[in-house]
Amino acid sequence: MVPAHPFRASLLLVCLLLKAGCSQPENPAQHRQFFALGTLIDLTIYGSDTTTAGLAATELEQLFTRLHSDWHAWQPGTLQETNRRLAMLETFPADTDLLPLLRESNRLSRLSNGLFNPVIGELVALWGFHSDARPDGPPPGDDRIQALVSQAPSVTDITLQDGQLQNRNPAVRYDLGGVAKGFAVDRGIELLQTHGIDNAILNAGGDLRAIGRHGGRPWRIGIRDPRGTGVLASIELDGGESVFTSGDYERFFDHEGTRYHHIIDPRTGYPADAVTSVTVIHPDATTADVAATALFVAGPELWESIARQLGIRYVMLVDHAGTIHMNPAMQQRVRFDNAPAAIRLSKPL
Ligand code: AMP
Ligand code: MG
Repeated sequence: MVPAHPFRASLLLVCLLLKAGCSQPENPAQHRQFFALGTLIDLTIYGSDTTTAGLAATELEQLFTRLHSDWHAWQPGTLQETNRRLAMLETFPADTDLLPLLRESNRLSRLSNGLFNPVIGELVALWGFHSDARPDGPPPGDDRIQALVSQAPSVTDITLQDGQLQNRNPAVRYDLGGVAKGFAVDRGIELLQTHGIDNAILNAGGDLRAIGRHGGRPWRIGIRDPRGTGVLASIELDGGESVFTSGDYERFFDHEGTRYHHIIDPRTGYPADAVTSVTVIHPDATTADVAATALFVAGPELWESIARQLGIRYVMLVDHAGTIHMNPAMQQRVRFDNAPAAIRLSKPL
C-alpha cells in the first residue's frame, strides 16, 4: 500500500475538523462562507461551472439572510408578530412564508411526544438563551421556572386550519431555534437543485445536508467530540443525507460549578442533563434537526421509542461517562478516531 501523502493527510484532518467535505487540490470544488441564522454557513459545490455555482451561492446567501430576520423570535420580524398575536389568543392568518415551518414543527413535535417543543419560547427566554448575546448566569429562580412549566405550552394548544392560527394557551410562544437551521438547509438544497447542482454540501455550523458525491468518493464528515476540540468520529454520506448534532457545548453558561445549556426539557423546565451530544442522520435536514434536539431531551432511556416514532434510522448519543449509545445500523457507519469508553447498542430501529 502506498502511504498517504502527508499534505493529503493533514488536509483531510482540517476537512474533518471543519465537519465538511473538502476539495483535494486538483478537485473542482467551489466554496462560499457567510454568517446567517446565528452561525457560519459553509457551502461547497462540487463539479459545477463557476458561473452556475457563483449565482446559486449568491441566491442562497440572500435566502438565508431573509430567513434569519423572519424567524428571529426576539427581533422584529414575522415570528415576533406571530407570537404577539398568539399570546392574545387571537385567531389570525399565519404568515404564508412561516406557515410550512410552523406546520412541520407542530407535526414533528407531536411525533416526539412534545420532547421537541417549539412553543416553549418563554422558558428559553427565561433562561437567557433567546438572545444572540453570550448567555450568562445565575440560573432563573425555580418558582419562575415552575410557573411556566405548569402552564404546559404545547403544539396541541394550537389549531392550524385553512392557514388560520388559533391558540388556546396564553403561555404558547414559538422559538424555532431547534428546527429553523434544518428547515433552512432543506430550502437551501432545493435552491441549489433548481440551479442544476447535483453535488454539494451545505454546512450550517457543523450541521449539514449533502447531495451527490465528492467526485469519485462519498462526502466524508466529522462529528465533534462533545468534550474535546477534535473529532469524535467520521461518517461517509452518499446520495443525499443530513447529519445534525445537538450538544450541550453549543450555548451554555457555568454557574457555581454547574453547566446550564440551551436544550431545555419541557417536562422539568431545566436543561436536559442525561447526555452531552446526540447525532442523527436522516434524509431531510428538518427532521434530523428536530430529532437531534428531541433525542437529546429523551436521553438513554427514551431515545429508541422516540426515534422510531420520528422514523429515524441512525442515532448516536454520547453520555457524561463518554459511553456511546447507538443502533446497530449507526455502528456500521461511524468510524471512531479513538475507541470510545464503552458502547451500548440498542435493538435495530
Ligand atoms: P438544537 O441546537 O437544534 O438542539 O436547538 C436548541 C435550541 O432550540 C435552543 O437554543 C432553543 O432555542 C430551542 N430549544 C431548547 N429546548 C428545546 C426543546 N425541548 N424543544 C424545541 N426547541 C428547544
Ligand atoms: Mg435541533
